[in-house]
Amino acid sequence: MILVTGGAGFIGSNFVLDWLAQGDEPVVNLDKLTYAGNLANLASVQGDTRHTFVQGDIGDTALVERLLAEHRPRAIVNFAAESHVDRSIQGAEDFIVTNIVGTFRLLEAARAYWAGLPEAERGAFRFLHVSTDEVYGSLAPDAPAFTESHVYEPNSPYSASKAASDHLVRAWHHTHGLPVLTTNCSNNYGPFHFPEKLIPLMIVNALAGKPLPVYGDGQQVRDWLYVKDHCSAIRRVLEAGTLGETYNVGGWNEKANLNIVHTVCDLLDEMAPRAQGGSYREQITHVKDRPGHDRRYAIDARKIERDLGWKPAETFDTGIRKTIAWYLANEAWVRDVQSGGYRDWVAAQYGAQ
Ligand code: NAD
Repeated sequence: MILVTGGAGFIGSNFVLDWLAQGDEPVVNLDKLTYAGNLANLASVQGDTRHTFVQGDIGDTALVERLLAEHRPRAIVNFAAESHVDRSIQGAEDFIVTNIVGTFRLLEAARAYWAGLPEAERGAFRFLHVSTDEVYGSLAPDAPAFTESHVYEPNSPYSASKAASDHLVRAWHHTHGLPVLTTNCSNNYGPFHFPEKLIPLMIVNALAGKPLPVYGDGQQVRDWLYVKDHCSAIRRVLEAGTLGETYNVGGWNEKANLNIVHTVCDLLDEMAPRAQGGSYREQITHVKDRPGHDRRYAIDARKIERDLGWKPAETFDTGIRKTIAWYLANEAWVRDVQSGGYRDWVAAQYGAQ
């Protein structure tokens, strides 16, 4: 049994689906169901007795303690977070409350639970914290990619809150001995990605005939990883990672945002040509850049590759094709997310949440 938090979000739901596809170990999934949480992502495991969904907050200590006592997980995998940089610029409070205070409370509940486990189970217990490359700040164009020893220089309220949570996790290991692992991953893309983020936003807007907004000159560079490769990395770190260590996870796929948008347009031209002809590229519009926008992130993933033998299964070319195919095949999911209709679906499937 493992406890996953934030398992109704983009990466968390992919992780839960992958986990249940790989083996029979049950999952308790604790998610607050913010705007980003979507139980429709988990429709294919609805009724599967290996998956227990609990709506709730990682900051609700009494609830977390109850879940730990009841289900006795051998690991906690913490995905729960506020995750959207633009939203953190509009208002950072939820980011502070969930990403920092929530992680703190989860760590405290985990510590009490772990300390009370019989010795054999205590040795096997793991707290895996899922984090981001954004904690390292912005890289100069010719600087080497981020290694695990790169200084933390977060620039957005989102990345600052994630950096704080990483430090708390580290401290709970060094001070209290909690058996923690941290992963810092580059930008993910793939199925169930909420259409406020770059790739799904471009796909969805392109198909709807809407403008494709590109921040500033579009030359901000990000490193991209197909979400299922992130999931396999987390599984691998959980299985074999060295306690107290952090692992950078990335696919060696540095791309400028504008290149990503061009790739999405070109593939859509091939896979879902515009009714009126011409290219989706005609819908691109440049908009005012995000304040404090980091220019470049790049992950050096050699440690996880070398020490744990992990490598991604997808290249960017294969992953982006799969992603676009998924969005084309799942227009109803997109419509529901946009309309809030999925909340009605959840109420019908699970009762009012
Ligand atoms: P997401 O926003 O899609 O999902 C977050 C989930 O957490 C949602 O289901 C939400 O309902 C839940 N949640 C929020 N606050 C909660 C709380 N207080 N208690 C319980 N649940 C809560 O995010 P994502 O893109 O899936 O990211 C998951 C994790 O991975 C985050 O910690 C994020 O920082 C990290 N990460 C994301 C990326 C990326 O590219 N998306 C890259 C690296 C790391």
